[in-house]
Amino acid sequence: MRNKIVQKSQTYHILIHVLFGIMTALIVSKQYDNENLLLLLLMGFLGNTLPDIDHVIYFLTYGRDSEYSQIIKLFIKERHFREIKNFLRDNHKYLTGLYSHTLISPVVSIFLTYFFFQKKLIYPATFFFSVSIHFLYDILEDILFFGKLNPNWCLKFNNKNKNNEGILFPYLELLRNKKRQT
Ligand SMILES: [Zn+2]
Repeated sequence: MRNKIVQKSQTYHILIHVLFGIMTALIVSKQYDNENLLLLLLMGFLGNTLPDIDHVIYFLTYGRDSEYSQIIKLFIKERHFREIKNFLRDNHKYLTGLYSHTLISPVVSIFLTYFFFQKKLIYPATFFFSVSIHFLYDILEDILFFGKLNPNWCLKFNNKNKNNEGILFPYLELLRNKKRQT
């Protein structure tokens, strides 16, 4: 049962974030029916998806030397785009170097949600409400997958390491073989 949920959560990770974004907007629109629903939906969508832009930033900048990023680069170079999709699906939870994914993030976003709702600024409130749900879902997923939180939540980043612990072995083997050849 647990494995089934893990698998589904892995396969539909982004879709789940999008659905949570929509859900957040609908919850808010039920409470504040004078607000523009489309704009609320947009805020919900952005709030739940934007935090993961850091995956791209990690790949391009501060985490580009990690094996995680190098494996993706290898696939891009060889135009194995389907492999990238599979790799990300199976390994993104082992990326524990994201600066944005710490316990501070949901605390700040929950505070901002509260703050903007107090000020009756419903659109920013919806945005940060959705951001909070994003992080809470990611945290729940960690507990579900590993039974504990990944170290990044406690500000222990893994971006410099040469070996992103947990990356599936065939990928590491592939990368090391390539390196040996060059
Ligand atoms: Zn995330």
